[in-house]
Amino acid sequence: MSRSTELFDKAQQFIPGGVNSPVRAFKSVGGNPVFFQKAQGAYLYDEDGKSYIDYIGSWGPMILGHNDPDVIAAIEQQLKQGLSFGAPTALEVAIAEKVCSLMPSIEQVRMVNSGTEATMSAIRLARGYTGRDKVVKFAGCYHGHVDSLLVKAGSGALTLGVPTSPGVPAALAEQTLTLAYNDLSEVESVFAEVGEQIACIIIEPVAGNMNCIPPAPGFLEGLRRICDQYGSLLIFDEVMTGFRVALGGAQALYNVTPDLTTLGKIIGGGMPVGAFGGKRNIMQAIAPTGPVYQAGTLSGNPVAMAAGLATLNKISQPGFYTLLSAKVQKLTEGLEAVANKVGVPLATSRVGGMFGLFFTDKTAPSRFDEVMACNLEHFNQFFQNMLKQGIYLAPSAYEAGFISQAHGSEEIEKTLVAAETSFSSLT
Ligand code: PMP
Repeated sequence: MSRSTELFDKAQQFIPGGVNSPVRAFKSVGGNPVFFQKAQGAYLYDEDGKSYIDYIGSWGPMILGHNDPDVIAAIEQQLKQGLSFGAPTALEVAIAEKVCSLMPSIEQVRMVNSGTEATMSAIRLARGYTGRDKVVKFAGCYHGHVDSLLVKAGSGALTLGVPTSPGVPAALAEQTLTLAYNDLSEVESVFAEVGEQIACIIIEPVAGNMNCIPPAPGFLEGLRRICDQYGSLLIFDEVMTGFRVALGGAQALYNVTPDLTTLGKIIGGGMPVGAFGGKRNIMQAIAPTGPVYQAGTLSGNPVAMAAGLATLNKISQPGFYTLLSAKVQKLTEGLEAVANKVGVPLATSRVGGMFGLFFTDKTAPSRFDEVMACNLEHFNQFFQNMLKQGIYLAPSAYEAGFISQAHGSEEIEKTLVAAETSFSSLT
């Protein structure tokens, strides 16, 4: 029995489903999850000593690759000074200034401990600031396990929201309207009906939780215009896209300015961090300057801030994203060529350092229903074939893939060789 299997058996005794976050359990792809012992650069090493080229990067944070020497040095230096003070530090000021300079729409920023906390707080702030309760989100976008955001739409756009999870009060879910991603006319008609009650639109400006779906031309601009017209706030959830698709995030790439931005993943360099920020007058509504309450025992934790700041400093180097995008391009074009060679229908998408793979004979999807229509069985077989050959992809057809600075030509070539074998054995 492999050590991973042994550990998974034991884990299920003491941890629900054996994991601390559901998608790690490999439920949708089948088989047992791999337990990892260590990582270096583009590679993960499991408990049985097998190595894998990593295309998850801890679900996004590890943009520099694992164990980047500068990030580790920054953490080590902070470790000697103390782990947590629960009081202000110079590091917090430094990282706040850095974030504001990299994303000019953020004039003030508050640090939290996860992406979920960031979106939860941003929604509360939007409601508190506007004095309105309704929230608009889009089908297929994930914003963490916040009560108000764990909601999917009923049949019509104005059908009351239905909770996706037991435990989310129906009365709260009713305040969330879930619309179709990339469908501006639906947003327009919903605002024409209830726009004056809508506190905010929250969106992943590049959707990365239904595979990887870029915004349709004009979609984000349209949302900005509608929010301005009705006095609603536009929130870009850049927990995934921030510092991933471009240095200034999706807002820089598409040149659309949100009122509030949520961040996570890369901003913590692998430590548990999230953040939300935006226009000064809106952020001033947060306690202690304003009445909207938000707090955190470990928020702005100095070790996490040291890791985040070292990461942000490194990705700010000129040319970083040109190189990262070129790697993704080489990978996705290579995968399409190999699939084509062996006759497997495959479409890909890519934005900066993230990408999507779709088993379809059509062009890459731009909507949730098109993602759902892709060949799930092919994805699952492909995932297992790649895993056997030491290529670690996200264990779900609905997650984006990530590449890091540490992925070189050698890793991409190895991936393409493994992909050819994997595509060839699809049934
Ligand atoms: N927003 C987006 C866009 C995300 O991708 C995620 C996590 N994948 C979250 C929010 C929640 O972040 P966390 O898991 O750190 O709570």
